[in-house]
Amino acid sequence: MHDNTLLPDAFLSHIAAIMPAHLSMAEFVASCRRPLRRSIRVNTLKIAVADFQARMAEKGWTLAPVPWCETGFWLTRADDTVPLGNTAEHLLGLFYIQEASSMLPVTALFAAAGVSEAELLLDAAAAPGSKSTQISALMGNRGMLVANEFSSSRVKVLAANVQRCGVSNIGLSHFDAKVFGQWLPETFDAILLDAPCSGEGTVRKDEDAFRNWSLASIGEIAQVQRTLLESAFHALKPGGVIVYSTCTLSHEENQDICRFMVERFGDALCFESLGDLFPGAEQACTQEGYLHVWPQIYDSEGFFVARLRKRHSVTNPMFKPGRLGKFPFTPMAERDAASLRDALIRDYGIAPEGALFVRDDEIWLFPLPFAPRLMNKIRLDRIGLKLAQTHKKGYRLTHEWALAQGHLASKGWVELDSDQAREFMMGRDLHPAGESGQGEVILRYQGYALGLGKWVGSRIKNALPRDLVRDTNLFES
Ligand code: SAM
Repeated sequence: MHDNTLLPDAFLSHIAAIMPAHLSMAEFVASCRRPLRRSIRVNTLKIAVADFQARMAEKGWTLAPVPWCETGFWLTRADDTVPLGNTAEHLLGLFYIQEASSMLPVTALFAAAGVSEAELLLDAAAAPGSKSTQISALMGNRGMLVANEFSSSRVKVLAANVQRCGVSNIGLSHFDAKVFGQWLPETFDAILLDAPCSGEGTVRKDEDAFRNWSLASIGEIAQVQRTLLESAFHALKPGGVIVYSTCTLSHEENQDICRFMVERFGDALCFESLGDLFPGAEQACTQEGYLHVWPQIYDSEGFFVARLRKRHSVTNPMFKPGRLGKFPFTPMAERDAASLRDALIRDYGIAPEGALFVRDDEIWLFPLPFAPRLMNKIRLDRIGLKLAQTHKKGYRLTHEWALAQGHLASKGWVELDSDQAREFMMGRDLHPAGESGQGEVILRYQGYALGLGKWVGSRIKNALPRDLVRDTNLFES
């Protein structure tokens, strides 16, 4: 029990006024004080769900399916002395620690007609990246997702999660998301706005979630939410869908924001009911068809999810194209691109999907929709994958390429045992018994890439970026 959980009286009376008749305040309070069940989402960019289940069963993990996400599970572990985030499987990007209710928005997005075939998506408020990585997994790393985040420190965490999960179809941007309607009108096929909010639903993992709670602060954040959703609506192509979600409970940040959109745009939009999104969804479904997830319904965090469709164009008073400097990348010369592709197939059995671009000595693999749809329209901090760095004698592949695609290689890799994996992560060179080779080699642990090394006779020189060197033991013998 979290007996110390702060639940101010003003908050409780605010909630009591909107609690649906079939739910009880006593259960609400009790569930706010109960610790949250742990949940994870399997990263299918790296591993199939069945393989993950088999692998983790051997380690004493029990996984109970989350009914609204095929890749989501509640988790109990026979031995939980190692924090989840420090397990080898987490480091290898095989799963993402994600609260079960926070898997709903992306499920709602991809259940909409047309979204699974969509080419260009936007995640307008993306850090730390649980939903961006969930979207990329559902896109199978194809098409393109712009993952935007306003806070500089959180952009770094987002970039790290994107790389850990082997995502290669994301362009990262760093703006106040209100710019999308101004700069990129009618551009995206689908948008997720998982909006900044007052976080009332998160009290089960943060007993101080209400420390600064006030109606005034809810009013301020609702203003930001209206602006971001209106901007997202302008950035959406006619026919496309937006999922609007928050991890908060007050109507001001949820139902009222949706009502504002209807008042503002009339029949240019309609909300689509989520009442049959999964068996049991009706328990959280409001009259309007939104999911208002009270923590006691599914024993989860509180959440709100609504899905709207843009039925036709609207005039866009926001439109004001951004001013961009010169785009620093150029498409790689066709002959060079063909020879790099041939070398990757020859050495690793991997044919890179995407468009090759260069900037100085860097070679990048951009998602295919980037050039036709976004080039020279918005500044992105990183696009796709940095594949290689050229030098006098050729090129050197990057750590991030190895993490994203190393498990797909049919050759050019060495499997490490747990002692060797530990040595590698500590930044040391390796001496695999009886083996030798030439050139760069992918180093894998239980089939998944930890990084790259370079053969020097019978030694493999460690090429792990220095900032990733760790001295903790991630790999049990
Ligand atoms: N979607 C994320 C995930 O699933 O990992 C969580 C997003 S969190 C609810 C909201 C994010 O919006 C925060 O990272 C916050 O820094 C960011 N944010 C706040 N104001 C913003 C703005 N004006 N434009 C874009 N992002 C903003």
